[in-house]
Amino acid sequence: MSKIIAVANQKGGVGKTTTSVNLGAGLASLGKRVLLVDIDPQGNTTSGVGINKADVPNCIYDVLINEVDPNEAITSTQVEGLDIIPATIQLAGAEIELVPTISRELRLKKSLQLVKNKYDYILIDCPPSLGILTLNSLTAADSVIIPIQCEYYALEGLSQLLNTVRLVQKHLNTSLQIEGVLLTMFDARTNLGIQVIEEVKKYFQNKVYQTIIPRNVRLSEAPSHGQSIITYDPRSRGAEVYIELAKEVVSYE
Ligand code: ADP
Ligand code: MG
Repeated sequence: MSKIIAVANQKGGVGKTTTSVNLGAGLASLGKRVLLVDIDPQGNTTSGVGINKADVPNCIYDVLINEVDPNEAITSTQVEGLDIIPATIQLAGAEIELVPTISRELRLKKSLQLVKNKYDYILIDCPPSLGILTLNSLTAADSVIIPIQCEYYALEGLSQLLNTVRLVQKHLNTSLQIEGVLLTMFDARTNLGIQVIEEVKKYFQNKVYQTIIPRNVRLSEAPSHGQSIITYDPRSRGAEVYIELAKEVVSYE
C-alpha cells in the first residue's frame, strides 16, 4: 500500500525540506520506493537532490497548470529508489493562476493518483505558506508530518496550521491524518530545547516522533552538494537520525 505524506508548516526554516529529502533518502535506503514532490517555488528539494533546474523538462507547475501527465515529470535521483517531481521558479505563478480554475484544490490529488501505485511513499515538500499549493498538498495527502524547530516560539502559528488541517478534513479530504510531529534542530546544550520538547509533547502527546533531529552541520552542508545526508556523509549523526526516523515512519505503516 502506498502512502502520501505532506511535510507542512507555514513557518520557513523549520526543516521541511531537510526532512523531505533525508526522510525520502532514508526510506529509500530501507528498500522503499519513494517519490518526492517539490511543491515549493523555491525548489530547494529539487536542488537538494542534485537536479539542475535548468535541465528539467517538466516540473510540478506543468503537472498542476498545463495538465502534463505526472509520469512525464518524474526524474530519478542519484539515490536508488528515490525519484522526484521537481519544482522550478515557474511555480511561483501557480498560486495566482490556480485561483480561477475549477476544483483548484484537487489538482495535485488527481495527478498523484496516476503515479501512486508505483511508490510506497510519496513525500510532498510544502512551501512556507497556507496558500493554494499547501491546500493542494493536504488534499492529496493521506497524512501530514509537521516539523517543529526546537526554539522559542516553536508553537507559535501552529494553531493556524491545525485550523487549516481541520478545514481540509471538513471540506476537501475527510481522511487526512496527522502522521507525526517532528522536533528538529535540537541543541542539547541549551535548556530551551528541552523545554520546547516538553511543551510540544504536552500539546501533541503520542503524535510526537521519538526520533528528535539534532542540529548537525553535515545536514546543512549536504544540500550545497546536491546530496541527501545519507549519500553525503552516511556516518554522520544526521544520517543516523534520519534513518531512525525512516524506521519509525515505516513502523506506523
Ligand atoms: P524549510 O524547508 O522548513 O524552510 P529547511 O529544511 O530548508 O527548512 O531548513 C532551513 C535551514 O536550516 C537550511 O539551511 C537547512 O540546511 C538548515 N537545517 C535544517 N535542519 C537542520 C539540522 N537538523 N541541523 C542543522 N541545520 C539544519
Ligand atoms: Mg523548504
